[in-house]
Amino acid sequence: MSTIAFIGLGNMGLGMATNLAKAGHAVRALDLSKDAIEKAVAAGCMEAKGAKDAVSTADVVVTMLPAGKHVRLVYAGDDGVFNYAKPGTLFIDCSTIDVASARDVISQAEARGFEMIDAPVSGGVGGAAAGTLTFMCGGTADAYARAKLVLDVMGKNIFHAGDAGNGQAAKICNNMLLGIHMIGTCEAFNLANKLGLDAQTFYDISSTASGQNWSMTSYCPAPGPVESAPSNRNYEAGFAAAMMLKDLRLAQEAATSARAAIPLGAQAEAIYALMEAAGKEGLDFSGVMKLINGSL
Ligand code: NAD
Repeated sequence: MSTIAFIGLGNMGLGMATNLAKAGHAVRALDLSKDAIEKAVAAGCMEAKGAKDAVSTADVVVTMLPAGKHVRLVYAGDDGVFNYAKPGTLFIDCSTIDVASARDVISQAEARGFEMIDAPVSGGVGGAAAGTLTFMCGGTADAYARAKLVLDVMGKNIFHAGDAGNGQAAKICNNMLLGIHMIGTCEAFNLANKLGLDAQTFYDISSTASGQNWSMTSYCPAPGPVESAPSNRNYEAGFAAAMMLKDLRLAQEAATSARAAIPLGAQAEAIYALMEAAGKEGLDFSGVMKLINGSL
């Protein structure tokens, strides 16, 4: 069993750290929020008093932070992890951040002789608590092989997407596609409704025809056809529109620097930004249906 420093015990990190502690690892928990630390300690982790205390005895450091600037600060800041980690410590950043920050922090780690991977997740808070997350990893084969032993405790599907930053690339490309087909699915159900087709009838036809897609069959944005979908609970957040918007902004940023044309990704970002402007970004991302049908 290893000593693991876990930094960032929010909605996602708490469940992930809890699973590591349950598996028998010594988990040293660090967060800016006292409340987050208290919950982690109640779940079997040990409180760390600052970065040095968290990482100086750790074999592995896992981070689950909001954005690129937090990841840069936590690893490479004046009081950062790089200053205190012992030689051979493995770093795993599970946050969803911009590809450029991920590549830069990993190259700084490697320049100091450490191994590090980016390993953003999908599966949400439920998947974090249940230990069923999907991890998309970028980094060297050696770093990935070491990290997989830890990731297996927190997830069900673990992928090596290639070099540093490729985990983030896979995550934002997937979520850009998800945002686009969710909006398209909303448009189709709304038009069907206006043309006099009820949601169940359209679902029965389209879910077995060429319009079929995940947003329709697993997460239908029209209430009715898919029992477990947030549309049947007034679009209460499973995956908030705010999180989708974050990922679409990251996709736009990456597309600009890679000079890739993403006209529909850009449009999806603009549409989710309208949900934010209306103060409805806390709804589930399928709640974009309400924007499309005029009921937001
Ligand atoms: P969160 O805001 O609930 O948690 C982030 C935690 O990091 C907070 O507890 C915060 O106090 C802590 N933190 C921030 N700066 C810190 C610092 N300098 N030192 C120590 N702790 C610090 O966010 P979350 O929902 O847990 O998401 C975390 C990451 O996972 C994000 O990058 C998000 O995009 C990604 N993600 C979230 C979900 C989801 O459904 N929530 C799904 C997939 C991926």
